[in-house]
Amino acid sequence: DAWVVAVDGPSGSGKSTVSRRLAAELHAGYLDTGAMYRAVTLAVLTAGADPTDAEAVVKIASEVTLDSGTDPENPHIRLNGEVVDGEIRGPDVTGAVSAVSAVPAVRALLVARQREIIAEADRIVVEGRDIGSVVAPDADLKVYLTASAATRAQRRSAEHDTDLQTTAAAMARRDALDSSRAADPLAQAPDAVVLDTTELGIDEVVSRLVELVRS
Ligand code: C5P
Repeated sequence: DAWVVAVDGPSGSGKSTVSRRLAAELHAGYLDTGAMYRAVTLAVLTAGADPTDAEAVVKIASEVTLDSGTDPENPHIRLNGEVVDGEIRGPDVTGAVSAVSAVPAVRALLVARQREIIAEADRIVVEGRDIGSVVAPDADLKVYLTASAATRAQRRSAEHDTDLQTTAAAMARRDALDSSRAADPLAQAPDAVVLDTTELGIDEVVSRLVELVRS
């Protein structure tokens, strides 16, 4: 039968890898909500708009067409018909995404879209910051992944081949921005299963979650 698994946590917590693998193993769909905020941010930057200009950002967010693929083996996101998987991971988008995602009307638009995608799916693993708390408070399983700041920075710098100190500083800045807003998207749902991936390997985390979903 139908189910929703919510996977929340900060960057470098292993969220993306865990969510995709969990979805693949359970033959379920996968939705990367961070990619949606990143795609809107790319549209803002491409338009030459100021990411801190809420009015301009909302206008752009309401005009773009986003298409989020839900195949965990081949996740993709299209912005106005074009695949932008690579562009949305660049430093410009990463540096501006917190400002864009802090705009309440942008969140309202994307949360509504995410709920539609979830409603259409039979079984889906949804990855983000506010899935268990806001997007899908009735999720069948809520997971909150964490890891030490040092480990998260190490993973990010290895992934993007960037300097460790620079990466750690940028990550700390984004974490602070993401958690300083009214509706804190890093807020943990009280009923989430918390797993620290600093010591637990990704394989171990995935197999524990597979068991939880099946039980
Ligand atoms: O997970 P990822 O690093 O791709 O998310 C990029 C950014 O999008 C986060 O730093 C956060 O600002 C925003 N985001 C959000 N709510 C979500 C997912 C991502 O605000 N559900």
